[in-house]
Amino acid sequence: MTTLLRSYLMSECRRLMTRSLPSAAQSAGAPPRSGIHMCVARRATPRGGAPAPRAYVSCLDCKWPPETRECWKCKRVTDRMREMFFCTPCDVVQSPDPAANYFDVMGIAATFDIDLAQLRSRYRDLQTKLHPDKYAQKSDTERAYSALQSTAVNKAYWRLADPLKRGLYLLELNGMGFRDGEVEVDEGFLLDVMETNEAMAAAASVEALAAIGEENEREMAALVRDVAAAFADDDVTRARWLLACMKYRDNIGDKIKQIRQERFGIV
Ligand SMILES: [Zn+2]
Repeated sequence: MTTLLRSYLMSECRRLMTRSLPSAAQSAGAPPRSGIHMCVARRATPRGGAPAPRAYVSCLDCKWPPETRECWKCKRVTDRMREMFFCTPCDVVQSPDPAANYFDVMGIAATFDIDLAQLRSRYRDLQTKLHPDKYAQKSDTERAYSALQSTAVNKAYWRLADPLKRGLYLLELNGMGFRDGEVEVDEGFLLDVMETNEAMAAAASVEALAAIGEENEREMAALVRDVAAAFADDDVTRARWLLACMKYRDNIGDKIKQIRQERFGIV
């Protein structure tokens, strides 16, 4: 790769990275996916056209994430994990770390099989510490950072508490995220889904619909166990396929709720 092309790609990479950094003013809108860096440098080919940005958890070419962070107030170099929310000596709330993924935010290992009670307790603890009421008398910067951190914690919690969302996020971190229809599931499974849809359409009573819902929940629980086993075996390809099946089951769950409301008036 020529030096010129490389320096162009580096600047492009930094530009994308800067765009993805949340600022104090960015309290609304759609922030970037936490902990994922959009980089063009690693997709570069010397003769190719403009490389498409691609998500990476870390990027060796532009050295993202940066190795250190510093407290915006005392300028001391802080520990990325232990001081993600507060600088220890000055006890001041920090800006969200753009390199932190949702597992980092919640202080747990990036695995599928997580301790939900621990996640919930961490969430409550952080939301108490970051509650806006605590910052009413503080500086504008602290108020802005606490609001951003509180939002980051909320997002992390809801994304990780749900097994389907957690699994899809783990795929993204592995660079194997997918859109609807991108992963082929087997014919037998699709037939099963089709039959369930037909049974839902024909359900003449709340009880009949509830029975379909219970069966779907059982299937979903089995898929969750299989996904956990696949991730535990580092078989991300199998986890991806199983998560695609989970999306179908999740859709059935949503449809059941909708039919309960529309056909039987139960909210
Ligand atoms: Zn400090």
